[in-house]
Amino acid sequence: MITTKAYAAQSATSPLAPYTFTRRAPGPNDVVVEIDYCGICHSDIHTARSEWGPAYYPCVPGHEIVGHVIQVGKKVKKFKVGDLAGVGCFVDSCGKCKNCKNQEQQFCEVKTCFTYNSTELDGKTPTQGGYSSHITVKQDYVLKIKKGAPLDRIAPLLCAGITTYSPLKRYGTKKGKKVGVVGLGGLGHMAVKIAKAMGAEVTVFSTSPGKEADARKLGAKNFVMTKDPAQFAAWTGKLDLIVNTVSAAHDVTPYLGTLKLDGTMALVGGAPEPNQFAAFGLIFGRKKMVGSLIGGIKETQEMLDFCVRKKVFSDIETIPASMINEAYERTIKSQVKYRFVIDMKTL
Ligand code: NAP
Ligand code: ZN
Ligand code: ZN
Repeated sequence: MITTKAYAAQSATSPLAPYTFTRRAPGPNDVVVEIDYCGICHSDIHTARSEWGPAYYPCVPGHEIVGHVIQVGKKVKKFKVGDLAGVGCFVDSCGKCKNCKNQEQQFCEVKTCFTYNSTELDGKTPTQGGYSSHITVKQDYVLKIKKGAPLDRIAPLLCAGITTYSPLKRYGTKKGKKVGVVGLGGLGHMAVKIAKAMGAEVTVFSTSPGKEADARKLGAKNFVMTKDPAQFAAWTGKLDLIVNTVSAAHDVTPYLGTLKLDGTMALVGGAPEPNQFAAFGLIFGRKKMVGSLIGGIKETQEMLDFCVRKKVFSDIETIPASMINEAYERTIKSQVKYRFVIDMKTL
């Protein structure tokens, strides 16, 4: 067993606090990663506070995990001690169903074992996330990270990166396409950078006027202040694709109006309450609204390699573990620039 230091929420209303537990010793196919950095995703907050339904407690959140391999099981070929490694939003799946075979393990027909607030394939052993010193994961669910890249700025790619890369790629982002990004937070800022790196012209829709200069620095050509409804008028029928990352319930109809004929809005923000939309927002212009959930292991590796090649990394504020609760409050107030990353040396 591996003694693991961590930060955990003990209930939906208690702040996260130091917590020690054990991880399994490596089995033949396992890799043990000593965690260097872990990003703070808004999903961690939704979960730790039971906003998506009752969570399992104690809850150690964190699914933007990077570190280095310190032990490998006998059958491990993919990693050796000292390699850099990443772990994202899930740590296991059946490996045999159609979706797993298709490298879409996040949609496993049997069970996707999410990195925290889930259980292992046995259906009993709780999973605990990356706000912790170590993690033991099957090699097939661990991502490779090239040496030389800034590890702290790579951490957010494991969720914010893949969650935006996947719909951007699926819906044809490339030179000549116009992409809207709604919400400039952790996911939003990665969507801007990745869409720009894919060659698209990017427009940011934000409730925060103070983020305009940042949006342009991140790669956006245009910035629309959504608190002023008049600003939408100039954007009617202009965009091919929108990636909507907003973390709270809102009316998506005004954004649908900015899509071209047959345009698509990919919803990735997981608002705990239902969003609103008017049917005619889709009917006129034959528009589509689709969901997207992170990405499979193959696509996550492809995204990591793309981002390292294009030097697309997250803009981060590194914090000690003792600041997690403060970081949660600032994230909720949309005051994160643009991802908090916990330095695990401070545990
Ligand atoms: P975040 O850093 O907090 O960013 C969310 C942004 O949404 C904020 O910065 C803000 O941007 C905007 N926003 C917040 N409240 C709003 C409101 N009431 N009305 C309009 N805009 C609002 O969060 P994140 O980590 O990027 O995550 C975003 C959402 O995606 C969360 O719900 C998370 O759980 C979900 N998520 C989904 C997946 C998936 O696979 N689908 C994966 C990861 C995360 P402005 O200041 O620019 O307005
Ligand atoms: Zn996440
Ligand atoms: Zn499966």
